[in-house]
Amino acid sequence: MSAVPLRNSKAAVSAARAVSVLGATGSIGDSTMDLLRGAPERYQVEALTANSNVAALAKLAKEFNARFVAIADPDLLKDLQDALSGTGTECGAGESAIIEAAARPADWVMAAVSGAAGLKPALAAVDRGATVALANKECLVCAGDFFMQRAILTGARILPADSEHNALFQALGSGNREELVRVIITASGGPFRTWDSAEIEQATLAQALKHPNWSMGQKITIDSASMMNKGLEVIEASHLFGLTPDEIDVLVHPQSIVHGMVEFSDRSVVAQLGAPDMRIPIAHCLGWPDRIVGPSARLDLAKIGQLTFEAPDFDRFPALKLAYDALRTGHGATTVFNAANEVAVAAFIAGKIRFGAIARLVEATMNAWVRSGNLAPLSSADDAIAVDHNARNKAATLLPQIAAKAS
Ligand code: NDP
Repeated sequence: MSAVPLRNSKAAVSAARAVSVLGATGSIGDSTMDLLRGAPERYQVEALTANSNVAALAKLAKEFNARFVAIADPDLLKDLQDALSGTGTECGAGESAIIEAAARPADWVMAAVSGAAGLKPALAAVDRGATVALANKECLVCAGDFFMQRAILTGARILPADSEHNALFQALGSGNREELVRVIITASGGPFRTWDSAEIEQATLAQALKHPNWSMGQKITIDSASMMNKGLEVIEASHLFGLTPDEIDVLVHPQSIVHGMVEFSDRSVVAQLGAPDMRIPIAHCLGWPDRIVGPSARLDLAKIGQLTFEAPDFDRFPALKLAYDALRTGHGATTVFNAANEVAVAAFIAGKIRFGAIARLVEATMNAWVRSGNLAPLSSADDAIAVDHNARNKAATLLPQIAAKAS
């Protein structure tokens, strides 16, 4: 049994659907709101959330007549209330208010808070059996077994919103589990695809933020440059679809047109294609099990001309290998992998470490974790959050020596 509904098991679709968007002011939030904007009569916005961007949250709340808005920073409650005075929109602040937003009665919830902070809110939506479009991959990387088991228990439907996983979700309907040989998730290769290791080591923040195809939030853009994002996606795919590491392959595809493929036992390979525009997978989640009319550009393969593929280079992009290692180790190792990466990316953005040191800090943290014998199954969100917290502390302790070390 899987919480990701395979094939076209029809869900009840109401006339005006109540929807909530967690992380409404971010890049995925923006794409989601754009889709809602395209058919306002079909959706009633129940709740919207943000971390600290009061102005953008209030603007969206007014435009969509949201019933409830929550801001994570508790000091910003008054600002939010002032910005929405006279509108009738209820306001909340702090982590509990973000969780309340997820717990309010919306049929469909977009889980697009960035980072491990997205775990508890997404779980609150899962706990009431909602349909959850899951963009936040950290939920699965930090607490995947637990998260998916909870979804099965509560009857929540998890719809993969990440483009590669959404592609697999669409392709998997062509066969059943016994017929599946492997899935292939594609990677653009990021801005450093053709760079040598010495150049990658010294890459600047501006260079890392120049993604060739996708326009995304800062953290995920840096993760794409290191291929850490692809590693997170391998772990994500494993949990979403119940796959072993050996059943998941990565293929570099610089054009980002083929997002994912599934190989079946008869050697058929079923792929999903589309322009690199997150509104396409989000529209699939929003319409599911039907299809809605999306605003994205139609795919013109004649204009694109060529689709090319390369094997990933695990030496120049060690993050990808570390992700497979963490997945094979299990028992919280992927939680440590994610936490150390969040610390490393923040340190890189702050100019404290070189780009090449991101993977080294993650590796050192994982090694220290395994050596200390801390590996144990995670049976609750609190377990996962405790490991996440301890791993962050460990990574922060190791940071100065990694920063000082030459590659
Ligand atoms: P952004 O950084 O653009 O947006 C993050 C959103 O979460 C914002 O609304 C932000 O609020 C809010 N937020 C940040 N921290 C907290 C917190 N501690 N508590 C509550 N809310 C918080 O991220 P993206 O939209 O790029 O990514 C969101 C998630 O989706 C990530 O997990 C990412 O890996 C995943 N994803 C993103 C893709 C993309 O194309 N961008 C593709 C596939 C997956 P504020 O604006 O106030 O800071």
